[in-house]
This record gives sequence, C-alpha cells and structure tokens, in this order.
Amino acid sequence: MKFTILGSGGAIRIPKACCTCDVCTEARLEGFPYKRLGQSLYLHDEGVLFDTPEDINEELNDHKVMDVKHIVFSHWHPDHLLGCRIIESIMDGEENTREQLQVHMPEDGIDLNIEGNSIFSSYENLGYIDLIQSDDAIKINDLSIEKIKLSNGFAYAFLIEGNNKKVLYCPCHTKHLAVTEALLDVDLFITSKGYSVISDEENTNFERDTLPLIAKLKPKRTVITHIEETDKMSFDDYLMWEMHLEDIEFAFDGMTIEV
Ligand SMILES: [Zn+2]
Ligand SMILES: [Zn+2]
Repeated sequence: MKFTILGSGGAIRIPKACCTCDVCTEARLEGFPYKRLGQSLYLHDEGVLFDTPEDINEELNDHKVMDVKHIVFSHWHPDHLLGCRIIESIMDGEENTREQLQVHMPEDGIDLNIEGNSIFSSYENLGYIDLIQSDDAIKINDLSIEKIKLSNGFAYAFLIEGNNKKVLYCPCHTKHLAVTEALLDVDLFITSKGYSVISDEENTNFERDTLPLIAKLKPKRTVITHIEETDKMSFDDYLMWEMHLEDIEFAFDGMTIEV
C-alpha cells in the first residue's frame, strides 16, 4: 500500500493567517515542509481520500493526485469536512465521463446544511456522488477499510488491510481510541499528534495520551500527523525530536509512505 500525507497540519494550520510568530513566519518564507495544510491522507492503491480540509484542492494539486474514486469521512469536525466542495471541483463538467465519487460516511451521516439545504443531498441529486452511510467495513477489490468508532461516539479510526499488511489510521481524537487485540502490532500506525501545550481532559495530549497509546499498540512504524500551529514547533524542531523517539516519525506535507 502506498500513502501520501496530503496535509499534516491540524485544525489551525501553519502558517496561521495574520500570525507573526517565528514558526508561521518561517513557513511563509520557506513553504513546504515548514508549511502544513489541513489534515488529509491519500491511499494510492484504490484512489481513496480520507477527509477534505479547506485546503484539499491545493493539496491534491501540490502532490499531483489525479485520481480520486472514494472519499472517506472520519467525522464532522470542520477541519476534516469543510473542503467537501472538492466534490464539485472534481465532478463539474465531467458528470457523464467520470464515475460518481463514492462518499463513505458514518452510519449516522453528516448533516451539513446551509439555509436548510443539505450539501451532500444536493451532490447526490447532481449525480456527483454515491453516498454510503454505514459503519460496515469498506471493501474495494482486495482492500478492506474497517471503521473503528472512537469512544467519543462520533469520530472514527480505520484499520486498512491489503497486500498482507495492516495500517491503523486515527486522523483525530486519538485519546479516544481503545486498545484491542486486532490493533496490536500493525505494520504502520498513522495518528493525530494531539497537543503538547494543551493538556485539558477534552483534548488529546501527545505526551499524556498519544505516546503511551503507541507504546501499548506496538506498531512497527508510527507516523504522527495533525500537527497544530498551537504547539509553536517548526519542522526542524520535529526532526530533532524524532531522533529521540524510536520508530516514530513526524509527518510533513507530501510525505509518501509505503508498506
Ligand atoms: Zn503562528
Ligand atoms: Zn481534527
């Protein structure tokens, strides 16, 4: 399986508009890999896009992704959802030549309405998408994407299996991922970082929650993403940090990972 991290940023990406801190100034000056756009992951094998942050059109172009067949939404939070107009961008004018995008949502759906109009229903009516609301595993040829509902009751992680490899992907809210037998010893764990500077009970904290979880799950390799501007750390700081962490790397936009 081959993945590209399309966006390694968090809810507040880097550079943050109007911010003059050192991390944002550097990112504005240097671009990638100092710059981090909204959280999204692409699985090349079957053209699967996980989540659509506001920057997704730019991300797909920057990393030369030409083939999206499936969009899988992890949860409704705006940093993962509000680029869903990418559906229009991809399908506009190609309704008769391109296959409908398969849009996979949680069983309870995602109720995105403007002035009482459901955005996803309108895409269905335009013939842009085939909307699949289910918590069942997504099967695409030899690929299986099992949905794991987190203990917060609304967000999901994914166990992706193909090619005799297992990849666990937890895009957000990692502190709510319960350890089960099936999730142990995977070949690759891609997970949201959580904050370093915020340690309230509601939010995932990297040191308190994410690192101990990785120690319990014992993946062969871990890639940390959803890296927040709030932590005020630059790409170089993360490079230094990962030298002290065994089998753990910090993602950057455009990073490709093969398992
Ligand atoms: Zn800043
Ligand atoms: Zn998030």
